[in-house]
Amino acid sequence: MTQLKRTKLIHHQQAKGNVLLIYTGGTFGMMRNTVGSLVPFDFSNMVDHLPTIKNLSLNIDVIEFEKPIDSANINPEHWQLMAALIESNYQDFDGFVILHGTDTMAFSASALSFMLEGLSKPVILTGAQLPISEPRSDARENLITAIEIAAAKENGKPIVPEVAIFFDYELLRGNRSKKVESMQFDAFDSGNYPALAKAGVKIDFNRSAILSVNTEKSLSVRKKFDSSIALIKLYPGISNAYLHAVIRTEGLKALIIETYGSGNAPTDTYLLTILAEAVKKGIIVLNISQCQGGRVTQGKYETSKTLDEIGVIGGLDLTTEAAVTKLMFLLGNFPQEVVRTKVIENFAGELTI
Ligand code: ASP
Repeated sequence: MTQLKRTKLIHHQQAKGNVLLIYTGGTFGMMRNTVGSLVPFDFSNMVDHLPTIKNLSLNIDVIEFEKPIDSANINPEHWQLMAALIESNYQDFDGFVILHGTDTMAFSASALSFMLEGLSKPVILTGAQLPISEPRSDARENLITAIEIAAAKENGKPIVPEVAIFFDYELLRGNRSKKVESMQFDAFDSGNYPALAKAGVKIDFNRSAILSVNTEKSLSVRKKFDSSIALIKLYPGISNAYLHAVIRTEGLKALIIETYGSGNAPTDTYLLTILAEAVKKGIIVLNISQCQGGRVTQGKYETSKTLDEIGVIGGLDLTTEAAVTKLMFLLGNFPQEVVRTKVIENFAGELTI
């Protein structure tokens, strides 16, 4: 079980707002030990690396994972924990910042966007490509602006009432984002949706792109996930034995196929036979594209028409990260027949119908 530690990081007599920082781990909070390897550092030293955080005039509380994790180790239990922390602290804070490794940040952001129904406060995920202890680190700018955005209000209402990723001067919708870069600072992109804000001298919010929410609605959190899914990325020469093995996976409830372009797959009969067999067995088969931009339009080419005919569901412009987490979330909370229709309904701005 993940152990947590809570501290009041910054406290002002007359603060402009309250932000809860949830520190899960990732490169952000690492420093070099005596032999030069990167190891998680004690979060209470964070202010030493970022003294200007005090100038934000915000109260900042921190809940940290006692053992910070590399985000390659994130799993649905961590999503449940993050959502539970937001739920139990919801009334006391204006916004939430989650410090998270970049590797699976887009999965966590997508999962949280589905779990936090009725969310009307900002939940901003951020991290860094270089640890905060490094002189050229991107950690300082990412964290300071993420906190500012989490606290930003207009006419008393949060400007960004949704789950988003702030990274390298851009705010992106969480469930539209992808990690696209492991060396440069611009690690994230959302090919199918415009940035929600750009941070320069001022933070320019793209108001028409930000979700408009009913602030009267209260937060309700669904925490169940069912991982009985599989993902096949198509490639020329994919073997029948592999397809066969995946589709025969014990207990499989949904299968995502990452196809080419606008949803195209080889018209090879074995693939189609095996997918038709899966659909007949009641397995949900969802077609999403390997492209970073554009959408699946089944029937546009002959190579996607049969998929449509055999009952494969066209996944529109869902990212892989959103498709995986949405199916796991829906299967955990709804009967299979309902999941079939809900998967292509818009829950939190993750797709364009
Ligand atoms: N492996 C790290 C993680 O995702 C990479 C990072 O934080 O940038 O936790």
